[in-house]
Amino acid sequence: MKFRQPTDQELWFLPLGGSGEIGMNLNLFGHDDCWLMVDCGITFERQASGENQIEMPDPDGAQEALRSLVGIVATHAHEDHIGALPHLYKRFPKPIYTTAFTAGVIRQKFQGDALTPELQVVDSYSSRQIGPFKVTWLPITHSTPETHALLIETKAGSILHTADWKIDPAPVIGPPFESSRFRAQNLPPISALVVDSTNALKTGHSKSEYSIRAGLKKAIAAATGRVIIGCFASNIARLQSIGQACVETDRHLALAGRSLVKMSGIAKSVGYLKTDFPEIPLSHLGYLPGENALLIATGSQGERGSALWRLARDQHPDLALNSTDLVILSAKTIPGNDAEVAALVRGFQAQGAVVLSAETNDVLDLHASGHPNKDELSALYDIVQPNLVIPVHGEPQHLAENAKIAKAAGVASTLTGRNGDLFVCSNPALIKRQWVKTGRLVYSQPDRSLIKQL
Ligand SMILES: [Zn+2]
Ligand SMILES: [Zn+2]
Repeated sequence: MKFRQPTDQELWFLPLGGSGEIGMNLNLFGHDDCWLMVDCGITFERQASGENQIEMPDPDGAQEALRSLVGIVATHAHEDHIGALPHLYKRFPKPIYTTAFTAGVIRQKFQGDALTPELQVVDSYSSRQIGPFKVTWLPITHSTPETHALLIETKAGSILHTADWKIDPAPVIGPPFESSRFRAQNLPPISALVVDSTNALKTGHSKSEYSIRAGLKKAIAAATGRVIIGCFASNIARLQSIGQACVETDRHLALAGRSLVKMSGIAKSVGYLKTDFPEIPLSHLGYLPGENALLIATGSQGERGSALWRLARDQHPDLALNSTDLVILSAKTIPGNDAEVAALVRGFQAQGAVVLSAETNDVLDLHASGHPNKDELSALYDIVQPNLVIPVHGEPQHLAENAKIAKAAGVASTLTGRNGDLFVCSNPALIKRQWVKTGRLVYSQPDRSLIKQL
């Protein structure tokens, strides 16, 4: 199909990554000869060797749109939303708009690179005119701080892009989910609601981060020796909850793993983890009595070389486990990592440690997902009352189920497609299938180049 630019009467959505798959989100919105990028992420593909390969959307098929790009918005600091920026930014070096925490994470990713991105730091609830797009940042609850839904207003209509979200009344860090902000009567007419579908197959409502705070506190308080917790480094609320539990149970904590040190440093630089986070250097932890010591470690997916991986093999330079230690895996096992996580657990148990895993002990409230289950999706459709829902951030079965939930909630139409499809959101709403060619680029570690995946 011949590429043409959107007119001032048209509002388009063109996903290059993240629609029809989970990971590497890259979304484009088109209006009045201009395009706006929302997120630019990577995905990790497990190789037969056990190594994770970094892959990202190949933007070449949308070159003509990218030539008229007016800016990039990063909704939050997860790798599947910002991880490709250091790799792809030189192809479309436009200002990146985001809030302080996410900006800190992006800035760190570019450290040592010749090209420094232009970062425009915005506040929650503020609006920016980016070319013909007026973008408003609406805080939404997720599993990393400062995740924002985006209201994108144009002369041809408005899109509400949820980003990754859940309905959390007590997220520990940041404001709770504020339904009034998303209520139809408080928004302009919405031409399309673009919605995260990750957990559309799960019934009920996701757990609140606050219930995990209570669950972790209970498990830590019951431990008689040292506690080792594996969790995702970007979940700053989880780190804060663990810090609070340490204060309440007379423990000090140390961090093991580069990503934890980086993420907690960025969090502190923008005002998080300032109190109730009794951190000491990792090298000091071994000198404390076990009942006063807690370690937060990276590697909850069993990643080779990570802190938990070394501990499980009794190869960590600073610590060795013993039979009074309690290991808590405060994370879900990402599909495909089951064998690695099972090997971790076996390694801990072989050293006599007791292991509590969120994966196998759901009732203990040791982990909460950052994505909406069925009830939250229905609730959002009741709140926003959109005429059109476009499910994204999911594999085909997640997108189809999310569309079904939207229909059941009374949404008049849904458009379900995949990367490369053009979603026309202005009247009449329709899809032009495979409007641009999409694919993947593979990051080649040895020479830091990108190779087209065949
Ligand atoms: Zn996310
Ligand atoms: Zn995501």
